[in-house]
Amino acid sequence: MKHGRNNDLPFAKKCSCGAITVMVLDGDGRERSMSMPEETYNEYFSEIPLESDQFGNCNYCVNKWGVDLCGCGSGDKVGECENNYDHCKSKVAAQELITEYILPSFKAIEE
Ligand SMILES: [Zn+2]
Ligand SMILES: [Zn+2]
Repeated sequence: MKHGRNNDLPFAKKCSCGAITVMVLDGDGRERSMSMPEETYNEYFSEIPLESDQFGNCNYCVNKWGVDLCGCGSGDKVGECENNYDHCKSKVAAQELITEYILPSFKAIEE
């Protein structure tokens, strides 16, 4: 990934696997990434510009890391994972969908 500190956040980029990774700054100015299916992006983050180029791979397909994937790393959807780890039983996602935290700060950047 070529993107680093010098690039303007927030931005979103699609991966060849179909998942979209949203890169944002949180309220403390730290870079946060969230990987998600396209439907989730459309629902929560469509105002974050989607770049025209794509990632060849991403956390979603490589690390099974996403807002709708089980926190145990199985790659199964949250709540549908049949592993019996604490994350599976308590339906904890691999990545938190931080809409309430991120979107206000995104709006602040826009102003
Ligand atoms: Zn991917
Ligand atoms: Zn699991």
